[in-house]
Amino acid sequence: MKENKQKIALPGDALAVSEEFLPGKNAYDYDGMVRALLMGNVVRDLSQREVSVKPVSIARTPSVGDIVTGQVEAAQTNSANMKIYYLNGVPTQGGFAGSLLLREDRRGGRGIRRTQVKLGDIVRAKVVSTMNAIIQLSISEPHMGVIATLCSNCGRPLSRADGRARCNECGNVEERKFADDFGREPIQP
Ligand SMILES: [Zn+2]
Repeated sequence: MKENKQKIALPGDALAVSEEFLPGKNAYDYDGMVRALLMGNVVRDLSQREVSVKPVSIARTPSVGDIVTGQVEAAQTNSANMKIYYLNGVPTQGGFAGSLLLREDRRGGRGIRRTQVKLGDIVRAKVVSTMNAIIQLSISEPHMGVIATLCSNCGRPLSRADGRARCNECGNVEERKFADDFGREPIQP
């Protein structure tokens, strides 16, 4: 049984008496008290007699050079809109949206555009501009790109296969601009 009182603790705050609770994540035992290591929500696990701190997600605005991870909400030919869920690997509750610029990639032949991202893809991208409060993103670097995607055919997660992604369920093969660690588990935002 977990109890979450939504109480915010500051670093060093006493969360419980050491005799009654053990320090869980982001908590430590000092001077007979379990204390918070960092700022966050206090979570008491009564069955384990453990108290821990869940870090508060950050709400600062993304700036140039930041790495964001989010989901594609709309994809056009030259751009895609992305809802941002992680900023430099930390969950964000800022509700930010970014615009992903898709450079033309004609490797597939003259005039043929390769699909770089699709609706619903989980993408890691770099912030390249925040001019006019528009967060512009790029996936041109090797570590940027799609990190998780589902089969357009049957909806199962796709796995890596020679620069493409293959569905182990139905055999469907799809192309994207993948991040270099696509297919690795667990997914790192
Ligand atoms: Zn499939």
